[in-house]
Amino acid sequence: MPSQTLKIDRARYVLTLDGERRIVQDGSILVEGQWISRVGTAAELAGVRADRVIDAHQLVVTPGFVNGHMHISYAHAVRGIFPDDVGSPLVHVFRLQMAMTEEEEYYTTLLGLVELLKNGTVCFVDPGSTKFPDACLQAYEDAGIRVILGECVADQDAPFPLPRYGTEEAVARTASFLPKWDGRLHGRIRAWAMPFSPETCSADLLRGVKRVADEHGTGLTLHHGSGPEARQEYLARHGLRPTEYLESIGVLGADVLLSHVLGLDDVEIECLARTGTAVAMCPVTAAKRGGGIPQHGRMPELLAKGVRVALGCDSPNNSNHLDPVRTMNMAAIQYKDARQDMRQIPAEQALEMATLMGARALRLGDELGSIEPGKQADLVLFDTRRPEWQALFNPVNNLVYNADGRSVHTVIVDGRVVVEAYRQTFVDAARLFSTVQEIGERLQARTGITFPRSRWPMV
Ligand SMILES: [Zn+2]
Repeated sequence: MPSQTLKIDRARYVLTLDGERRIVQDGSILVEGQWISRVGTAAELAGVRADRVIDAHQLVVTPGFVNGHMHISYAHAVRGIFPDDVGSPLVHVFRLQMAMTEEEEYYTTLLGLVELLKNGTVCFVDPGSTKFPDACLQAYEDAGIRVILGECVADQDAPFPLPRYGTEEAVARTASFLPKWDGRLHGRIRAWAMPFSPETCSADLLRGVKRVADEHGTGLTLHHGSGPEARQEYLARHGLRPTEYLESIGVLGADVLLSHVLGLDDVEIECLARTGTAVAMCPVTAAKRGGGIPQHGRMPELLAKGVRVALGCDSPNNSNHLDPVRTMNMAAIQYKDARQDMRQIPAEQALEMATLMGARALRLGDELGSIEPGKQADLVLFDTRRPEWQALFNPVNNLVYNADGRSVHTVIVDGRVVVEAYRQTFVDAARLFSTVQEIGERLQARTGITFPRSRWPMV
């Protein structure tokens, strides 16, 4: 059977992110099956017919957005329950997560996927927070999103209840997870090794899961941070900074993605550049939790050294939104403020991190991240018929500084339209919202983790 064709016709602008970063005015894109086959001006594609044509003359087309760090499970059910004065909610977060049933995780995941897609995210890394991937498989399939999955493992004591195993068992679990999951749903699912962090995993565990990932030809992600205190501690214990320690045990490299990475010093940045290691930074989480971007944020230096930087949202109780446009905005503005220098992180660089560079950080740069023939048909169409898009002369500035995910009109993943005219096509949203609200109530009652619903009297 010949593959279905889809033509996005006469787009006001197509931000291609191709090798020359061309922005095509009055642009058209032809999609054949799952692939982009042609990109050009409307005039160049004038004679091209397709099974379906989307009139995009009021729309701006971008590549699908990539999220490098996003704990999909649990948090939608209890979003916003932590008051600002609770301090770090991590202990509660992990207890709530561990208390989820299969069915609850399926629904909260599905809601997470709805929010991701409706805001234009087509691919994300879930850093091992999903307990029941089998139960969630239907959600990934229905939503049509791309996901990088893994099983979170640790073998050391942690201040929060992580899944803790013996070292060999943790490595063996990773070794059986990868072949079971990698490549499912026509390649939309990828499986990586996901040790939690260097503090909660022994060197043997980290080496073991890295070896397993290498043997399987896949990636590895873990949480990582540094900063003066951690550096002192690591220097005293290992004679090395935290990032140097990871290098010394062979856990850095082109297939490794470190998340958060606040507090690195120049030596550690050099270490990442030298080893070709990628990072996922979560600018909104960093700001919301008081991460100290002026002292600890090194995004400009990482980019200057050629480190691949992806953007992430962390979780619905960290960022708390899953909006790549607001995330780009934060990345672009927070360093201007922190460094008191408007030249930091231009809008174009923020857009690259959320698309092409992010895809490269996720080892998917050959397939995703730009609008070029031969790439997967993952596209986001923004509606310019909204006040925040007016007036429109520089679509990159309008996107990064004016817009947010609410102007995402249509989303295409793998050639399939999954959001159409603001509506996701794969689930009854109203029913899903009330189901997740009920799950949140049950989860709080079951765990006893509750907080006053507001600092103000609720009457
Ligand atoms: Zn995380």
